[in-house]
Amino acid sequence: MNKKTKEQVVMWFRRDLRLYDNTALYFALKKHVHVVSIFIFDRNILDFLEKDDARVTFIYDAVLQLKSDLQKNGSDLRIFYGNPEDIFILLAKEHDVLSVYVNEDYEPYARLRDKKIKKIIEINNGVFQCYKDHVLFAPDEIKKNDNTPYVVYTPYKKKWLDMAEELMPYSIFPSEDYLAHLIKIKKPLKWIKLKNMGFIRSHIRASKYRIDETFLENYNQSREYPSDEHGTSRIGPYLRFGIVSIREIARKAAESHDKTFLYELIWRNFFQMIIFYYPKTTQKSFKVPYDYIVWNNNKKDFMAWCEGKTGYPLVDAGMRELRATGHMHNRVRMVAASFLCKHLLIDWRWGERYFARYLLDFELASNVGNWQWAAGSGCDAAPYFRIFNPKIQLKKFDPDSVYIKKWLPELNTEQYPKPIVEHRFARERVFLVYKKALKRNL
Ligand code: FAD
Repeated sequence: MNKKTKEQVVMWFRRDLRLYDNTALYFALKKHVHVVSIFIFDRNILDFLEKDDARVTFIYDAVLQLKSDLQKNGSDLRIFYGNPEDIFILLAKEHDVLSVYVNEDYEPYARLRDKKIKKIIEINNGVFQCYKDHVLFAPDEIKKNDNTPYVVYTPYKKKWLDMAEELMPYSIFPSEDYLAHLIKIKKPLKWIKLKNMGFIRSHIRASKYRIDETFLENYNQSREYPSDEHGTSRIGPYLRFGIVSIREIARKAAESHDKTFLYELIWRNFFQMIIFYYPKTTQKSFKVPYDYIVWNNNKKDFMAWCEGKTGYPLVDAGMRELRATGHMHNRVRMVAASFLCKHLLIDWRWGERYFARYLLDFELASNVGNWQWAAGSGCDAAPYFRIFNPKIQLKKFDPDSVYIKKWLPELNTEQYPKPIVEHRFARERVFLVYKKALKRNL
């Protein structure tokens, strides 16, 4: 492969680590033979991560699985570690023409990266082909009648469902039927070890996911209770890295009598669209006046929140679940996020970064979207005056204290901290602070 060849077609795997129902792979294999598969451990991302980051272990294992799947089909995965631009400059030198197939990524960094790579490829007479794969509807496919993006979920969802009925976006792209068109590689290619990229293997593992008929029918109820470990699907990390096909999952959800699960997948699609049209929301509040809030940003309070020592059991249990497993139940995420912004008056960006560090299913678009929802600053957010009462939430969603007891062994002992802030005081304080910022800047 190192000899200069006339033309080379490359399938560049990114957040689509599977051989079946993969759009870009399907088109690459359908149109070409001898397709080369590559994956890049991107130092622009990895260099900023902690050495024991659980997602790196997760993605590393997924990449090795993909490599093994390719080997079973007589091919292999060429694995790189570095800056994608440098790698494509090198690859382009190996061939007269280099064409690259990828699935679209809507995050700001990925879009900038792809723009640069496209240039490199086109200068070398190749084509850079992008396909929709990560979502059912690309950002520009669902717009309001005046051709502007939706910024409210409910009308977006309605249009999404209408379009789905018309266009059947669940149809698969059977890349698995064309695997004979992969380049044949007999001798296994070398791969880089985790430790050679400076990482250590994390003990945190993603749970297996479950989506069957019974699950989908009961999800509407089961998803409410954090003590029910099987109440939600746990599919987040698998969707994040494209280990499963969103079309396959959404089709199952659409076929179910109860559509609640499908609506959650539409939230995911909605936030992917928002990050595409409003990339600045990764840094700035969607609603500008919210950036005038004068946060308290007390570091001691923040540490208590991170360590699960606020004295509010539902918040604390969630934060400990996050550190121990890389997961936190959605209901608890909402309560913990609201508590940080509204009870402790800490900037939502601090919480967003902390979740980004530890969530196995971390997805920039969904994390930012949901954090802004909790802070009230998002496009379709909880109104600022709706303030979760963590004690009432606990009574409603963990009535027998099963969840909190699991994560807080010292609960009901002297060791468990007293509340770091009083609910009524916090409620009145956040009202005043938000009101002041919004009044002056609306
Ligand atoms: P299930 O309940 O089984 O849902 C199935 C899938 O639907 C999820 O995996 C996800 O892809 C999608 N989904 C469900 N709820 C939402 C939602 N509110 N927004 C967007 N997609 C949704 N989800 C992430 O995927 N990545 C994140 O980084 C993330 N950060 C969050 C931060 C906060 C503050 C909050 C309140 C929510 C966040 N969520 C995030 C949404 C949600 O909590 C998780 O998707 C869910 O808990 C993952 O567990 P699950 O796969 O068992 O979910």
